Amino acid sequence: MAYLFQCLYNSAPLGSTASGIRIIMSDTETRDFIRQIIHEDLESGKHDEIVTRFPPEPNGYLHIGHVMSICLNFGVTVETSGRTFLRFDDTNPAREDEEFVNAIERDVRWLGFDWQDRLTHASDYFAQIYAAAESLIEQGLAYVESLSAEEMREYRGTLTTPGKNSPYRDRSVEENMDLFRRMRAGEFADGEHVLRAKIDMESPNMNLRDPALYRIRHVSHQNTGDTWCIYPMYDFAHTMSDAFEGITHSLCTLEFRDHRPLYNWFLEQLQPEHLPRQIEFSRLNLAFTITSKRKLKALIDDGVVSSWTDPRMPTIAGMRRRGYPPAALREFVKRAGVTRKDKLIEMGMLENCIRESLGDSVERRMAVLRPLKVVLTNYPEDQVEQMQGMNHPNNPDRGTRSLPFSRELWIERDDFMEDAPRKFFRLQPGGDVRLRSAYIISCDEVIKNDAGEVIELRCSYDPDTRSGTGSSERKVKGTIHWVSAAHAIDAEVRLYDRLFTVVNPNLADDYREVLNNASLETVQAKLEPALATLDQDTTVQFERLGYFRPDSEDDTANARVFNRVVTLRDSWAKLEKQAMQGM
Ligand code: ATP
Ligand code: MG
Repeated sequence: MAYLFQCLYNSAPLGSTASGIRIIMSDTETRDFIRQIIHEDLESGKHDEIVTRFPPEPNGYLHIGHVMSICLNFGVTVETSGRTFLRFDDTNPAREDEEFVNAIERDVRWLGFDWQDRLTHASDYFAQIYAAAESLIEQGLAYVESLSAEEMREYRGTLTTPGKNSPYRDRSVEENMDLFRRMRAGEFADGEHVLRAKIDMESPNMNLRDPALYRIRHVSHQNTGDTWCIYPMYDFAHTMSDAFEGITHSLCTLEFRDHRPLYNWFLEQLQPEHLPRQIEFSRLNLAFTITSKRKLKALIDDGVVSSWTDPRMPTIAGMRRRGYPPAALREFVKRAGVTRKDKLIEMGMLENCIRESLGDSVERRMAVLRPLKVVLTNYPEDQVEQMQGMNHPNNPDRGTRSLPFSRELWIERDDFMEDAPRKFFRLQPGGDVRLRSAYIISCDEVIKNDAGEVIELRCSYDPDTRSGTGSSERKVKGTIHWVSAAHAIDAEVRLYDRLFTVVNPNLADDYREVLNNASLETVQAKLEPALATLDQDTTVQFERLGYFRPDSEDDTANARVFNRVVTLRDSWAKLEKQAMQGM
């Protein structure tokens, strides 16, 4: 499959806020092909009001691909004062799965959309769909099939050979009606009969070769209980539900393109009051990610990730737990655009949306992820000074916070190098560095353990260089972050990387072979004391390290657990450029 590898690093900056839904469409130029159709239909008076639906099957959690469909279906009616239904596709009788239903509702709301009183189920229409089936029988357009499933497959033909008519195809209307009513009454076993549309067994479009409309299944349904033992097939149920709800534009992904002739056949034969129009757009695929509920479930079942809400998962719930703002996801799908081309979108583009959305608002804090002890040999043993750290570098109105400073500190292991190259401006033996919001220190001595590893640095501080108030004009090239050892709080910090090693894991035969085994790194970090009281739903920037947020499931007041939302800079550009060249 040929993909358009999309790169939009330089697109317009984010204008949306976390609270409000942004009106995306300001002029004709920015309208995608679906919005153009919708506007023409309003202008020509074909419709007074746009009505759409988002129709998830509650068999898993929603993912980044669904974000695109949600933002499109709800977005067009926010923009045109129309209505959108959240319709659960429950044509398959299955075990009650309240977990998925609740998660879907929560996720759509969190993205910023509201279906108001328009929460429906395909099963709400079972009686009407049944009546439509009887109407097709009456018109001689549907018949009861009594071939076995295997025989039906044989009669169906292949993509290159036509199918042939079933011996049961010419049953009379009366016989068909009698058999169908008895199917409904429970007189037959599963698979004994099927109701089929009578269209064309020789059609080059397989979907038109007398597709099944109803099958027998003696199974209780999560919403209708034991009322039915026959259930409508998806294509029939979906078309009829669209018609009953007065959907004007039925927006779906490209794999339904070949189903459109069938969709239209149902509408032509049954002539419902409202005639919806199906329009297809391409699926959103994200580089290094899979977007299929079935495959995502396999990751959980195989223990690769902890659950549907694992912060590495491309599920809405996983991305929320990771700390992605909803506005950033809306902006991302807007930039990806609604088109008919298959596309694989760069991870860098998603992360840029997240950085842009967080960058201006979040406060700065200090944290050391891989601690190395520093002892300031000339600093009084019992002294503690309160340094003032700016909460936001470009915005003094955001105030400051106290950073206790003392004789023993933690710095980042990476900020020290024994044999440093010329351009290394952090700490090295005999070298100087500024501790952010504090003093300039010099490294006098390196302490190692028996294995030769550096375990501590003996340094001295320059009392005249205190940030903001120091009398010295002394300047150094590097500034690093730190926390006071006596005041630091311990935390587990989880650093995430992509789940797969290849750009399009959807194409792999077995996803296990392309897993990135280093997708989660857990470190025991030291945090500045102000982070002890950070609210759980607040994202901060750990200075020089990235954006971090308390984990909504595992973080507690006594044991803090933070997730890295995103790094400060784009770490994908190089990787994705290489991957693109290899495609
Ligand atoms: P999956 O393959 O993950 O199970 P699905 O298409 O079966 O996805 P549904 O719950 O049936 O999942 O999808 C609800 C709606 O979301 C459908 O209209 C579908 O077209 C749309 N959708 C699903 N995946 C994507 C995607 N990757 N990009 C855009 N829209 C999508
Ligand atoms: Mg589906």
